[in-house]
Amino acid sequence: MKDIDLRSDTLTLPTKEMRHAMYEAEVGDDVFKEDPTVNRLEELAANMLGKEAALFTASGTMSNLVAILTHTRPGDEIILGSESHTFWYEVGGASTLAGVVMRTVPNDEEGRLTPDVVEPAIRTKEIHYPETALLCLENTHSRCGGTILSPEYTSAIAELAHRRGLRVHLDGARIFNAAVALGVPASELSGAVDSVCFCLSKGLSAPVGSLLCGTQEFMDRARKWRKMMGGGMRQAGIIAAAGIIALETMVNRLAEDHATAQHLAHGLARIPGITINLDRVQTNMVVFETPTTISTLEFIKQMDALGVGLLYRGGRMVRAVTHRMVGTTDIDEALNRIELFMKDIG
Ligand SMILES: *Cc1c(COP(=O)(O)O)cnc(C)c1O
Repeated sequence: MKDIDLRSDTLTLPTKEMRHAMYEAEVGDDVFKEDPTVNRLEELAANMLGKEAALFTASGTMSNLVAILTHTRPGDEIILGSESHTFWYEVGGASTLAGVVMRTVPNDEEGRLTPDVVEPAIRTKEIHYPETALLCLENTHSRCGGTILSPEYTSAIAELAHRRGLRVHLDGARIFNAAVALGVPASELSGAVDSVCFCLSKGLSAPVGSLLCGTQEFMDRARKWRKMMGGGMRQAGIIAAAGIIALETMVNRLAEDHATAQHLAHGLARIPGITINLDRVQTNMVVFETPTTISTLEFIKQMDALGVGLLYRGGRMVRAVTHRMVGTTDIDEALNRIELFMKDIG
């Protein structure tokens, strides 16, 4: 029985072409900025995101942390979504390592932070208050189910933040999913923000790495923070080579993951006992509600035993993520297994 692992798009393995590029990669010492492959990846990333410069980091977590370190001083406050990845899944590094207060405000159901929640959270100048330095956004929004922030929304909220003297960082781990789904260049989604990062190791299928993009001046300071975090890698061109292939060949195919996600979502909607909001399925994530006849953790455990990998999302919610290594026939098979299981538990 084939395992159909829908836990995450991070499970995608590097392609043959990536491994070949890694083998052949021209390398040097990147701490001296002498790795031509890393330099090429950073230039490519900056161009695609419409920024002056980029920095190759070990992970999305490191990119977000370096961005926060660079935008703030210890004791500052940052505003971020109550459902944001940075708040939930980055081990609280913004507080521990950057020394900032994380002020969460509620995300709406599609991952936005609306002006009516952002504006009142911005501190005025007052002796008792920390200074609000940064607004953090996320596109696509992971905990909200891969939902998309539009260019119009992003510009409007960034304009508000800038007007109040804040900088804006966009966690664009899956920004290319948003760009492909909207049919716009990624730079249209990042034009209004001061910094943006994205992951190579998710749907884009590279084995390692993320890029942080922004102005040259910002990146010169970010590079030093990356060094302090222990992220100054030497012949990193070995892994950057796969990232170049990812950016050159893997972006447009994300549309296939969106199609399989739609296929999965519509299939789930037809299974009695499963509840799903199809409007929320906008990219490669499918979040659905399990029936009350079984605990959600037990549902996931049983599905795992039946060869369908899912992830717990809190409450009765489960998430499935489509990616390069699951095709339409795999989705059909997963749907069969879920449907049979649901019949079994009545
Ligand atoms: C995955 C992810 C990250 C972190 O990336 P890692 O490479 O796993 O550290 C950050 N933000 C979002 C929205 C993500 O989905």
